[in-house]
Amino acid sequence: MDFQLEEPDDMSHTLTVQWTITPVTAPRPFLACSRCGGHRPFTCSGKTRLNANGRRLDAWLIYRCAACEDTWNRPIFERRNVANVDPEALAALQGNDPGWIRQVAFDIEGLRQCTDRIEEFADCHVERRVMSGTTACTRLDIVLVAAQVSSLRVDRLLSTELAVSRARLTRFEAGGLLTLVPEARKGLQRPIRHGSRIVLDLSAQDDRAEIAARALLAS
Ligand SMILES: [Zn+2]
Repeated sequence: MDFQLEEPDDMSHTLTVQWTITPVTAPRPFLACSRCGGHRPFTCSGKTRLNANGRRLDAWLIYRCAACEDTWNRPIFERRNVANVDPEALAALQGNDPGWIRQVAFDIEGLRQCTDRIEEFADCHVERRVMSGTTACTRLDIVLVAAQVSSLRVDRLLSTELAVSRARLTRFEAGGLLTLVPEARKGLQRPIRHGSRIVLDLSAQDDRAEIAARALLAS
């Protein structure tokens, strides 16, 4: 019998990476367009409007009908006493702060107060950072940072970023080689969640070095 050196502990064979996921396209509400008629998707213009009436303020995010460019003003707040407006929000509105506007544009829960029908997009930008380990790993641990809500599914994210087919990911999950933390039933089909982790056991995969390399660097 061939005695091999004992494997080092599991940790040393784990590559841990952090993926920061930023959605690219803001959700589009479907609204009845008063100019061209019918329900149309409205695209966020990225511009806001702030109106003062005495001590009362109105603020809107401007959207445009995808068909005729007619505008829709999405209320951020209306008829609000200036004393009750969050100073940070006021400064952001006055300075047209793109980061703040982005947060509002991607606030899908806020948008749901205006319409039931919303078109969501799964395109995203993924920034990769190594936490520990190397590509000479047998286990891959991906930590998700997703500050903004996204409808992107876990399997779509992984298949795009790791260049592994969704069918193969499903086999991994069924075979217990892919685990989501916290655990979720049919987790691969669920939208990504901030702070969750995806653990992949690659020990039996011949292309594990390639998969690990893609976890580190976009292909
Ligand atoms: Zn229209």
